[in-house]
Amino acid sequence: AETVNIRNFCIIAHIDHGKSTLADRLIQKADIVEDRYFKDQILDNMDIERERGITIKSQAVAIPYTASDGKEYLLNLVDTPGHVDFTYEVSRAINSCEGALLLVDATQGVQAQTLSNMYLALEHDLEIIPVINKIDMAAADIPGAKQQIERDLGLNPEDALLVSAKQGTGIDELFEAIVTRIPAPSGDSSAPLQALIFDCHYDPYRGVVVHLRIFQGRVRKGMKIRFMSNNSEYEVETAGVFKLALVEQDELSAGSVGYIIAGIKTVGDVRVGDTVTDADRPCDTPLPGFREVKPVVFSSIYPVDSNDYEELRSSLEKLKLNDASLVYEKDSSAALGFGFRCGFLGLLHLEVIQERLEREFDQSIIFTAPSVKYRIQLKTGESIMVDNPTEYPDEGKIESAEEPYIRASIITPTTYLGNIMTLCMEKRGVQTNMTYLDEKRVELVYDMPLAEVLFDFYDRLKSISRGYASFDYDITDYKSTELVKLDILLNGKAVDALSQLVYKGNAYERARVVCERLKDEIPRQQFKIPIQGSIGSHVIARETVNALRKDVLAKCYGGDISRKRKLLEKQKEGKKRMKMVGDVELPQSAFLAVLKTK
Ligand code: GDP
Ligand code: MG
Repeated sequence: AETVNIRNFCIIAHIDHGKSTLADRLIQKADIVEDRYFKDQILDNMDIERERGITIKSQAVAIPYTASDGKEYLLNLVDTPGHVDFTYEVSRAINSCEGALLLVDATQGVQAQTLSNMYLALEHDLEIIPVINKIDMAAADIPGAKQQIERDLGLNPEDALLVSAKQGTGIDELFEAIVTRIPAPSGDSSAPLQALIFDCHYDPYRGVVVHLRIFQGRVRKGMKIRFMSNNSEYEVETAGVFKLALVEQDELSAGSVGYIIAGIKTVGDVRVGDTVTDADRPCDTPLPGFREVKPVVFSSIYPVDSNDYEELRSSLEKLKLNDASLVYEKDSSAALGFGFRCGFLGLLHLEVIQERLEREFDQSIIFTAPSVKYRIQLKTGESIMVDNPTEYPDEGKIESAEEPYIRASIITPTTYLGNIMTLCMEKRGVQTNMTYLDEKRVELVYDMPLAEVLFDFYDRLKSISRGYASFDYDITDYKSTELVKLDILLNGKAVDALSQLVYKGNAYERARVVCERLKDEIPRQQFKIPIQGSIGSHVIARETVNALRKDVLAKCYGGDISRKRKLLEKQKEGKKRMKMVGDVELPQSAFLAVLKTK
């Protein structure tokens, strides 16, 4: 396609405002998928996305469209996630587009991520088309949404399109607006190749599939390409576009979004944000790439079976191709052997990585309790960063400690104001601002320790506001704190993988909850197992798992042999997911239990 006939745009919005549903309507209208293969939220193709009903990965799809001017256009649409943990996915999508559809749910109005995503789009000079969605709903307040678009977003409400993504209302007008309002990509197809890697994935049959936005030049089969960050060179085997499936093309030219496959054997050669160029006629400078993301939550991963360490390493490497925000390095534990210390963008991100390792890569793994990164001032005058409890220095060597703080912005109907303020206070939050957006909605701004938000803040906010409060945050700075290392002892021995760094004021409560949870998770064994929570040598919580051989056959009253066998097999299966820690058998679920506070 000629550059003038291409439009690259993303759909951005707060979570649940209907991005993926709108993508469905655009895809359906373009007739690129047969009706019998169509399913709702078709771009959410990972199991976890479908189960949780949320988008985790940005997903590109090329749709052909014949406009009312009679011309054929190729629209490259990118659906994006809305959850705060996946802002990185949104920012990468924005980098490969010239325009954005900014959705506002007519029943919810402008929410926290509506604002933050709009700022991301503005930073990159995207043409923003405001779209008011869910106009079919009885609770839809179109004038209210228009007012918020003007007042909160500073956009012209006259420009807003009215859509029901669910019923397909307003879709034709939307297509025309995309073609007429969003600029065509610029770029010279005869210049040397300059293409941005915005994503990748690993295909067991075809190897690394590199997702590209071509800014200059063209790429075709047989061409020798170079990755500019490390000068590795490969020959292009296939190039093509995303039409739900990968569809091969003769070439991709300036302005296009597509993929290449190039027999890439060394997974580490490919890096999201890198520039691909022509090895024989390279461009002068690489593209700016993406702003580096900094992980905020850290946890270690260990294989349940220590023999699977190498396999876990190669799985992480492949997963990182598809999730550039994942960082990891080697780690080891006295209790669990060799593993990896990993950095995540939030707790949901951690859960997603865990599930993907298990499902896509068939890994059986244990995660240790998540932690933020603390700054510790030592008595020697030296200052160190610590996120791993095993690296926490002796109390005696510590002068002071600091923890990361966030600026949390919460938008809520006034009804829930009181309860939300109580929650924020309980989480050591300090209110720094409060603005009435209109008569019914307030924006609250709090300074809060990141560690408090990690645990159950989001869930509790949602439950006390019946889902109506929205939340967004930025990491601001470090502030002084009082920190202790909480150790967990099983049978009198500290298990390093269960240690946590916690705010002193929360230590007793945390210790109590962890001990209780472990008691429920650890199966009775032939001896009594004391579970203790301690700070240094000071025990602050205690539970006991009583000795009793778990006799699964007791329930069977003789008789049915096949039922007995089944039970025994089930018990054996349970064993496989057990980890011997000292002389205590710990199920995988025990480690998970420690992650959750409530
Ligand atoms: P996303 O998180 O922005 O991708 O939102 P989804 O597309 O997953 O939609 C969230 C929910 O809103 C789903 O239950 C959709 O069926 C529903 N939804 C989306 N658009 C509309 C609409 O126009 N009208 C109504 N009534 N429901 C909608
Ligand atoms: Mg979605």
